Parts: sequence; structure tokens; C-alpha cells
Amino acid sequence: MDVSSCPLFLLLDRRRVTSNSVHEIFMRECFKLARRGTGFVSPNPMVGCVLVRGGKILASGYHRRFGNAHAEVECLRTYRGNTHGTTLYVNLEPCVHQGKTPPCVDLILQRGIPNVVIATRDVNPLVAGKGISRLRTAGVDVKVGVLEREARELNRFFFKHMRTRMPYVHVKIAQTLDGKIAPARKRSAPRYLTSPDSLKLVHISRAEYDAVLVGAGTIIEDDPQLNVRLVKGRDPAVIILDGRLRVSGKEKTFAAKIQRQVILCTTAKAASAHRRKVESLRQKGVRVLEFASRNSRIDLTTMLSSLYDLRIGSVLVEGGRDVFTQFAEARMIDEMSIFVAPKVCGSGTPAFSDGVSFELGEAFGFKTTAVQKIGDDTLIHFSKA
Ligand SMILES: [Zn+2]
Repeated sequence: MDVSSCPLFLLLDRRRVTSNSVHEIFMRECFKLARRGTGFVSPNPMVGCVLVRGGKILASGYHRRFGNAHAEVECLRTYRGNTHGTTLYVNLEPCVHQGKTPPCVDLILQRGIPNVVIATRDVNPLVAGKGISRLRTAGVDVKVGVLEREARELNRFFFKHMRTRMPYVHVKIAQTLDGKIAPARKRSAPRYLTSPDSLKLVHISRAEYDAVLVGAGTIIEDDPQLNVRLVKGRDPAVIILDGRLRVSGKEKTFAAKIQRQVILCTTAKAASAHRRKVESLRQKGVRVLEFASRNSRIDLTTMLSSLYDLRIGSVLVEGGRDVFTQFAEARMIDEMSIFVAPKVCGSGTPAFSDGVSFELGEAFGFKTTAVQKIGDDTLIHFSKA
């Protein structure tokens, strides 16, 4: 693709582009490519790469799937010409360690690429600045920090893994104006509180996250499918938080032909009291994880660490009240989306249990990152403060 012919580039060109804005144009190309790996590369980061000369993209590539070639390799394998005067753009620092593929820094040096532009350093301790310094030592002109904030946002799951060895947690709540997630009289209620546009957004999120997590109550009362139907995308794994092992095993999530991973997290105490149920779930292909309990509840830190060991790098928490409350109590929420339907419910189930109370001055708060109108609903987006 010739980016110099794109309208934005021409507009900037006429105003005499600064080198930074050119860098940003090509870095955005990397982001676009990187996003194609959404849902398939976890727990690896999403990375895109372009090779540029004279304002033209000579080659491009991205990390397609966990275990496959890195973006730099994908990019350079399609270009065999000389690299004189080229610049390689990549949204994450190239690796220096021998992984499933040889180090990308070696490849860049072998191909004699004179300039490299990187959005953000890799926080992986195996890389952490070593890629940049090896390139510089070899005489490559390296620029770091182009659209760094966007690059960190793009790979926020990965940056959390590297810091904590735990999955990224996003809580999604659909509620009424008066903060209820379900009316008291369920039978007269419509199937969904929010608009079709909001539901579509939820399906887009499901395709991006490694897993959807719900409590046993949601499985028993709503019997949801928790898959991706309204948009194209792969189905996430399903995680069920069921401290007392209340599910019957006949719900839709456990349908005979399980194509995706279903993980049931329960307490060791409940599992030993319901051995036969555990066995029948395991025969269906459900992975049953048993945890020590504290006040008959699973410790979320231990659970999330175990899930990360199973390569679950991101979790979309969809309900219900007790699950939302547990994650809030444990301060385990990285991001939260609240869809507010323009309805008043009166008596009903609140999003968070009033059995807990937080000091308003406490450290655990959020910052509002976006407010959007979605159909008739308002979506408010928060991230950990
Ligand atoms: Zn690499």
C-alpha cells in the first residue's frame, strides 16, 4: 500500500509534515495490523510491523497467532529487496531472546535496516530495553516512544501480565437508571435490559477476551450461551465461579458438544461433597478447578493466577451481583463498562451487594475514560484509578 497517496498524508504533506507526524502515520498502520491478531495471540502481545522507504510501505506483517512468527519476521519475509534507506516501524520493542523463533533484533541487523521506530519498550524482563540497546550498539538509528500511550493501551492485557502474572479483568454491567441489573419480578421482564446496539458491543468484546466469567447464579437463572453470535469472531472460554457447586451440568454452557474451554472454579470443600457431579462434568470436557476457601468463597488472587497458568490472559466478567461484588472487594477490576438503559426499575437486584461497604475516600476508585451513547443506552467506561 502506498500511504503517501492517502488523503491524510497529502494534507499533512502540504503543511510540511514534521517527522513525528509521519512516524505516527506509520505507527498507526502497525496498530491496525496488530489488531488483526485480536483474540488469537494471547497471552502474547499484539504486534504489527511495516518497512518503509520514501513514504512508501514496502512490506508489512503482524503476529497472527500464539506460537507463530513475530511481526518483524512476518514483515521481512515478504520483502527480499535491498534495505538501503529503510525504516522499520514496530509497536513493541523487538525481542532479543530465543523464543519459539530466533530473536527479531538479529534479523533486523542481518537485513541491514538502518532505522527503527518503536512505540514502546517491552516490559518483559527478557527484553526490557535490551533490544533497543543492541540495535543502537550495532549502529541502528532507533527512535522510541512514538504514540506510546496508544501502544500501551493496545497491549494493556500484556502489560498487566508482565507486571502481575495475572489476567486482565474487565467488568461489564448492564443496568437501569436506578442501578438495577435485574427487576424483582423476572417473569414480566424482557430478555435483555439494554439495546441491540449495546448487545452487539458486548459480542465484540467477547471475541477480544480470552474468557467470559459468570457466577453460578447467572448460569442457573439465565442459562446464557455466552458466545459470539451478533458479530464475526471466535468464542471465548467460559469460566464459572461456583463456590458451592450449584450448577446441574445440564445448562446450555455444558451442552454435549463443547467446542470451547469451559472452566468451573469451585471450593475443595464443595468438590468433595459432590464428587459424582465433578466426575460427570469432567467427562463432558469441563475443567474443574478446586480451590481452598475463605468464608466459603474462592480466593480470587489464587484463582486468577491459576487461570493465567492455563493461558487465560484476559477475562470479561459478565455477572451477576455477587461476582461483581467479589471482584470489587478484592480490588481486582482493571476496567469497567456500565451500560445504562433509560429505564427505571424500582425494586430489583443492584449491581453490587449492599452487604459490603467501601469508604468513599478509599484508594480503590476508577477514572472515567469515555462516555458514549449506544442506541438508547449510555455506556460509561472506567479504568482503575
Ligand atoms: Zn521477536
